[in-house]
Amino acid sequence: MIHCDGLVKIYKSDDLEVVALQGLDLHVETGELMAIIGNSGSGKSTLLNMLGGLDKPSAGSLTVDGKDLLKFTERDLVKYKRESVGFVWQSNSRNLIPYLTALENVELPILLKGRRKRLRALELLDAVGLSHRVKNRLSELSGGEQQRVAIAIALANEPKLLLADEPTGSLDTKMSNQILDLFRELNHKIGITIVIVTHDPLLARKVDRVVSIRDGKTSAEILRRQSYAEELAALESGVGLEEHE
Ligand code: ADP
Ligand code: MG
Repeated sequence: MIHCDGLVKIYKSDDLEVVALQGLDLHVETGELMAIIGNSGSGKSTLLNMLGGLDKPSAGSLTVDGKDLLKFTERDLVKYKRESVGFVWQSNSRNLIPYLTALENVELPILLKGRRKRLRALELLDAVGLSHRVKNRLSELSGGEQQRVAIAIALANEPKLLLADEPTGSLDTKMSNQILDLFRELNHKIGITIVIVTHDPLLARKVDRVVSIRDGKTSAEILRRQSYAEELAALESGVGLEEHE
């Protein structure tokens, strides 16, 4: 899904140059659920923004789902952002409207009309476990529930890739866990590739693979023992049950 080689991003202003990514390599398989960890300022958000087409790399190569992002025109970028990727952020103030209901918030970005739009929005809210809250205004929902609405919106146009930047950053441990379980469930059920950026070590235990970034370069890769699918299969076949009992 993602092939990123020698990626460089330099932010330039009049008197300053910040090298945010300095030759970063990253490869992500289709259907993977992975986390990128690293200290604040290590370049995690910069990387995610490149992957999501929100900003252009300075050098290197980057292809997502077979598309060469460095060759994109502005028009290609708009199409890509709209159709190929879904974004979830730590704060939802930029994409959720507090005085609208959960249902209205999810309906807004859907590229359908009338009844089909409503049905699709209900389906999405069901997928994120919010069927019972559709008529509540956003301002009446908890932080975790609001994050679920944001995830529903990110999935609205059926992207192949979901990018999440510190999605549990403003949630307590219990809610963070629930949001992570939701990511795992979505990854498993609809096979969507998910890249989560975080500095939360809790998260790292819940994904297929963890890549750590330091100073704009990948510094280590930690392979998980089992993927979620393997874990489920093992549970179903009874292997490992003793440990759980
Ligand atoms: P992280 O998400 O890991 O905290 P970032 O990708 O936000 O790291 O930032 C990496 C580096 O790039 C930091 O030194 C940061 O100050 C700098 N940076 C990020 N965005 C910009 C920007 N728009 N302009 C200038 N410098 C930036
Ligand atoms: Mg960041």
